[in-house]
Amino acid sequence: MAPTGLLDDLRAALGENAVLTDPDLLRMHQRDEADLCAAGTPLVVTRPRSTEQVVAVVRAAARHGVPVVPQGARTGLAGAANAVDGAVVLSTVAMDEIREIDPVSRIAVVQPGVVNATLAGAVAKQGLWYPPDPGSWESSTIGGNVSTNAGGMCCVKYGVTTEYVLGLEVVLASGEVLRTGRRTAKGVAGYDLTRLFVGSEGTLGVITEVTVALRPAPAESLTMVAVFPSTAAAGAAVAEIAARGLTPSLLELLDQTHLRAIEAYQPMGLRTDAQALLLAAADTGTRAADDLAGLAEVCEAAGADEVYAATDAVEAAALLQARRLAHPAMEKFAADAYPGGNGGLVIDDVAVPRGSLAALLDGVSRIAAECEVPIGVVGHAGDGNMHPNIVVDRADPASVERGRRAFDEIMRLGLDLGGTCTGEHGVGLLKRDWLAREIGPVGVRVHQAIKSALDPTGLLNPGKVL
Ligand SMILES: Cc1cc2nc3c(=O)[nH]c(=O)nc-3n(C[C@H](O)[C@H](O)[C@H](O)COP(=O)(O)OP(=O)(O)OC[C@H]3O[C@@H](n4cnc5c(N)ncnc54)[C@H](O)[C@@H]3O)c2cc1C
Repeated sequence: MAPTGLLDDLRAALGENAVLTDPDLLRMHQRDEADLCAAGTPLVVTRPRSTEQVVAVVRAAARHGVPVVPQGARTGLAGAANAVDGAVVLSTVAMDEIREIDPVSRIAVVQPGVVNATLAGAVAKQGLWYPPDPGSWESSTIGGNVSTNAGGMCCVKYGVTTEYVLGLEVVLASGEVLRTGRRTAKGVAGYDLTRLFVGSEGTLGVITEVTVALRPAPAESLTMVAVFPSTAAAGAAVAEIAARGLTPSLLELLDQTHLRAIEAYQPMGLRTDAQALLLAAADTGTRAADDLAGLAEVCEAAGADEVYAATDAVEAAALLQARRLAHPAMEKFAADAYPGGNGGLVIDDVAVPRGSLAALLDGVSRIAAECEVPIGVVGHAGDGNMHPNIVVDRADPASVERGRRAFDEIMRLGLDLGGTCTGEHGVGLLKRDWLAREIGPVGVRVHQAIKSALDPTGLLNPGKVL
């Protein structure tokens, strides 16, 4: 039952069309893309268009004691955008205005609902580049990217989202509007509140405007592939690439499970007999060919069976496309393994120091065998950031239990190797326990103190992160 007057207040502030209570739409907004995560049914989905309307939603929800769950495109992989029962979902997808692109200051100012690829396309028209490129770039929003501190394929050289966020406008749980950061090339005034909100997963405020830094468009890149007889050999090649100070603009790994899943999903001529494939690129202009040769040499020395360079931009784009198909291909792999809609995919996300990548990959193979679950591994190898994808039969509690055990074992291994429980997908619902283990009791207390200073009643995205 709606608290008396809440829906009326929301309709008065936003208009009928931006206040959705249709049961199908409520169902649609229950969850993000994370499998096996709890999700409630929201009371209402709101689609504000302006900061003032976000303020009105937050104030109305606070007045009626109803939690607010911010959502972007719901492509998240940690359950961080999942609704809780009776919540107001605050979807920012209608806040999709690119307000400014300034080629002199090399910045753009956008509303949070702008899709990553839309921003990238708009700045490219002015010879500029917004580097963070999550695999979901054609659908995920800048607000979601900032709130999860998203990574992507080019982040190995150019850094993750936080490197590009200069300033934010945030609606706090109190309904006040906070402006953080700057639009200047430099600036150190006060605490770095911008970084506090980056990666805060909707728990500290609703981001209503983002000022991002842009770069000049990079030189065209050259791409190569190295095929390995073991994942650990590929991991060793990555460590050596870093040790030699080489700077690939892309360094991704696909294991045999992924190579086979992608070939089954969309035949592309990938070597499905390989245990692992490294996809690398260099975008250093006139030096790119030499840099690519350096990468090839390291891969061969690490035991690659075959190393070849893409002959042209079309072949390079096809190789990148193969990497981008990893997610839908593995979804199909899970669906085929357990027909009737029972195939589940628990997408993990762990990052280790690059020197420990081989140990992580070996460990994941061991865990798959011990837990008797298929696990495919793909990820941003150059960042030491891997996504072990665990396939389970949702209809079989024993299979789900084995999958959860494998998930926990991978988390434990990652932390034992000096890594972190999430490299880019965030904590959400999936990893609250693991966050606590990673940061320890003092870290948890400081997190809680920040949360209660900004959101004392726990209005925003309750149950996530902490
Ligand atoms: C096929 C596929 C590939 C992917 N590849 C990558 C990848 O390479 N790298 C990577 O990092 N992630 C990847 N992801 C995960 C996901 O796309 C990212 O986490 C993305 O940043 C989420 O953006 P979104 O707009 O979908 O946000 P949502 O999923 O809707 O929300 C994510 C979080 O942000 C919060 N939030 C959203 N908007 C706001 C706002 N305006 N104010 C405050 N909080 C807000 C939500 O509450 C939630 O906590 C991938 C997902 C898929 C499905």
